[in-house]
Amino acid sequence: MAHPSTLTAYGPTVAEVDLGAFEDNVRTFKKRAGKSKLMAVIKTNAYGHGVVPVGEAAVRAGADRLGVTMVEEGAQLRAAGINVPIHILSSIMSWQAADLVAWDLTASVSTSDLANALSREAVHQNKTVSVHLKIDTGLHRFGVHPEEALDFCRAWYGIPGLEWEGVYTHFSSADEGEWKTTEKQYASFMNTIEMLKKNGYQFPIHHAGASTIAIERKDMYLDMVRCGIALFGYPPEERQDSMISLKPVMGLKSRLLHVHELPPGSPVGYGGSYVTTGYEKIAVVPIGHGDGYHRALSNNGQMLVNGKRAEIIGEVSLDQTLINVTGIPEANDGDEVVLMGEQNGDYISAREIAGWMGSIVDEVLAGLKERVERIYK
Ligand SMILES: *Cc1c(COP(=O)(O)O)cnc(C)c1O
Repeated sequence: MAHPSTLTAYGPTVAEVDLGAFEDNVRTFKKRAGKSKLMAVIKTNAYGHGVVPVGEAAVRAGADRLGVTMVEEGAQLRAAGINVPIHILSSIMSWQAADLVAWDLTASVSTSDLANALSREAVHQNKTVSVHLKIDTGLHRFGVHPEEALDFCRAWYGIPGLEWEGVYTHFSSADEGEWKTTEKQYASFMNTIEMLKKNGYQFPIHHAGASTIAIERKDMYLDMVRCGIALFGYPPEERQDSMISLKPVMGLKSRLLHVHELPPGSPVGYGGSYVTTGYEKIAVVPIGHGDGYHRALSNNGQMLVNGKRAEIIGEVSLDQTLINVTGIPEANDGDEVVLMGEQNGDYISAREIAGWMGSIVDEVLAGLKERVERIYK
């Protein structure tokens, strides 16, 4: 978030982004990819880490391509001077075709409307736009169905201004380890490519796998793997933690804004969902669900103070969260509190927070709002 230049300091709540750790993770996957290309998927503001600094770091560390879902993110990366191919991994509205072409982004195409809009814009801007055909093998978000792929290519493969550089699919159930479903989807994708090829429709770059495939299934790499969440230090699923060594990229820190003692029987926070049993020491931490620190953490989570765990008590509010520091008598106004990351040998991971929330690491990281200052290391 841009701060007025008249401020002399940040507030205490900051997300630390370790770009060195991110680059190490990129290099780990680049090596694993071997002859296949590596796309660093940095959608959703790089899963909350900041799309431009992370995009630059990805390219520095050897990512061949970048993937986002919004034209706006692609344009931001181009404006920052990034030259590698940048894929828009989502379908877009046809009125966004002009910007996609102007910023030399690579489109995902699965509808005649978008194929036509891109063609018109490419011709109009005197350019060729690189496009990847998206095949829907079972996720059912978007994509051409395998049985309609031939008709689609007959109608649109030859229109002017498009370079059909690739064809891809995205699996529905690889993270869940449902290999039967995933293998069926993979076979459907390969059969579709083969059938299109026989009919004269060629797509040089074939790709299907995301982080899970990059970690578990070398046999499905094809010409490129598209890694997202794993580059930020977390394999999609806990079972994969033992399969690869990655470095968490984001830490989240604040300071105790106010520490005070309450007598027994005091309700704490909105609705008084927590009531003190004895004399208890309560601390206010300046972060809330307005920052993306979810309400699901109400009475359900921990933070580190002096390397010790303090329970979240009461409801998480928009800007504040309360913790119980009764067991940490030395805790005082201004002390550092670690919400995610290491402190004095203990560690709270995004995975642990996701567990408290009943969610996944992606939501913990990408859900952190931009009002939380990112500090890059
Ligand atoms: C998000 C996304 C990815 C990356 O997925 P991860 O599981 O985070 O690695 C890859 N491909 C597509 C099409 C996506 O939307």
